[in-house]
Amino acid sequence: MNAHDVDVIVVGAGPTGLTAAGDLARAGRSVVVLERWPAPNPASRAFATMARTLEVLDARGLAEDLLAQAHRAPAVTIFGGARIDLTHLDSPYRFVMVTPQTNVDAALRGYAVAQGADIRRGVEVTGIEQDSDGVNVITDGAQPLRARYVIGADGAHSTIRALVGADFPGKTILSSIVLADVKLAHAPAGDTLKVGSTRNSFAFLAPYQRRDAEGSWYRAMTWDRGYQVPDDQAVSDDEIIAILGQAMDADLAVSEVQWKSRFHCEERQVTRYRHGRVFLAGDAAHVHSPMGGQGMNTGIQDAANLAWKLDAVLGGANDAVLDTYHDERYPIARRVLFQSGMLARGVTLHPRVARVLRNLLVPRLLRVPRFRDAVAGSFAGTTLRYGRRRGEHPLVGSRATQIPLTQDRLTDVQRVTPGFVLVREHRAAAIDALDLHQAQRSDAGPAVLVRPDGYVAWAGDSADRSGWAAALAKWTGPMRIDAVPTSRPPNSLGSVGTPLAP
Ligand SMILES: Cc1cc2nc3c(=O)[nH]c(=O)nc-3n(C[C@H](O)[C@H](O)[C@H](O)COP(=O)(O)OP(=O)(O)OC[C@H]3O[C@@H](n4cnc5c(N)ncnc54)[C@H](O)[C@@H]3O)c2cc1C
Repeated sequence: MNAHDVDVIVVGAGPTGLTAAGDLARAGRSVVVLERWPAPNPASRAFATMARTLEVLDARGLAEDLLAQAHRAPAVTIFGGARIDLTHLDSPYRFVMVTPQTNVDAALRGYAVAQGADIRRGVEVTGIEQDSDGVNVITDGAQPLRARYVIGADGAHSTIRALVGADFPGKTILSSIVLADVKLAHAPAGDTLKVGSTRNSFAFLAPYQRRDAEGSWYRAMTWDRGYQVPDDQAVSDDEIIAILGQAMDADLAVSEVQWKSRFHCEERQVTRYRHGRVFLAGDAAHVHSPMGGQGMNTGIQDAANLAWKLDAVLGGANDAVLDTYHDERYPIARRVLFQSGMLARGVTLHPRVARVLRNLLVPRLLRVPRFRDAVAGSFAGTTLRYGRRRGEHPLVGSRATQIPLTQDRLTDVQRVTPGFVLVREHRAAAIDALDLHQAQRSDAGPAVLVRPDGYVAWAGDSADRSGWAAALAKWTGPMRIDAVPTSRPPNSLGSVGTPLAP
């Protein structure tokens, strides 16, 4: 048995890999990130960061700075005047943050480095060999490295996925889509994200927070049913301008086009996220239509789910904890594929009658509060929850972020501690002789044990030590209950101003 060089090797320094690396390093694990690009990817694909991801970023001290340079869109206008209204979300972030993915990547890179992750660029992974004790990672040129676990966060064309022989079933759903940054002299009214479509084309516009005397900058996406060409065919400015005008039914006066590219989109998902000691996350595990802005968001949340579980198992928890990564995240991406696919198919609908029906029904449905909030919450990720076992409290698996505390918000607490948090009932006495982070809720709800990713692991009476202790032991192993440190020094990216509630 060879010695391990590190606890975890992350392949790929995209948003998924960087989140996982930062979280693992923050938990005190040694992490190396191997990235084949010698410099950060300048191409900005994602532009929409959803409310749940903003909560995840806030728990790492990253949301505020990103928001300071971003546009906040309160809704997405889709077709026939229908709007996905985000202003009623159960979150402090009742909007979608519009900012280039390069900004989110940079924030996560800063986080990973500040926490101590070792990012090695210009290193391409070409092979892996796993045994019962670890994984050897072979790269082009550099010495092989050995780790206890590997995360394949190497994107849609994942090498790791191919190396573990994972199935990636699915199909191409749209081709010859053009992406560009455009400057508009006549900006469309309102500050929402907008989709416009005809029977044979669609265009999408998302406002950036950049404007000057000649106009405002937008991320644009266009598609023309009558002009389907391979991805490597050059994009002309005229092509973008023509489809934008046609699909938005307006003269937007495009005065400048910055970077542009053509791509196709597929809907695929691996059948298993875990392959022994190797885990697939982000685009390596699932790809889908960019409509609905879900890919980066889902990848960041995959990473937040996986990292603490790897930390727990490295600390002595049962290996079965790692199986819950697939169990919890597979259905989430399944739903993402479904909803982004529905949106893409809805926008590109061709038969006239179907379009008339769509335009009649969807706007009305989206005005019904229950339907409106279900759709908005699903896109924003705030209604996402994980399963619970029979007999467990109904809150188990739900998001704890909105539970009101007597001091600070849960994400403030999580900036200081990456571990579990026991939130006691209002005015319940502190639990004695226990090194577990504690907080106190300010409303009448039950005590909850919150996982490091912000979801409820247990709910009930805090005086019932056997209840929450058993839940904690299930996730972290019996040895760790009394070994969780009471406090960690605030990381360099953010700290809370007040101490944790006693
Ligand atoms: C047009 C478009 C618009 C989009 N808009 C949105 C949006 O608004 N919101 C949203 O949430 N998502 C959006 N997405 C999706 C989003 O861009 C991706 O889901 C996200 O980048 C995936 O992150 P990742 O870290 O999983 O993979 P990637 O960002 O692809 O990163 C993978 C990294 O792995 C590296 N790598 C690959 N192979 C190797 C190897 N063998 N060795 C070492 N390194 C390797 C790559 O160089 C890359 O840096 C959009 C995508 C497109 C195409």
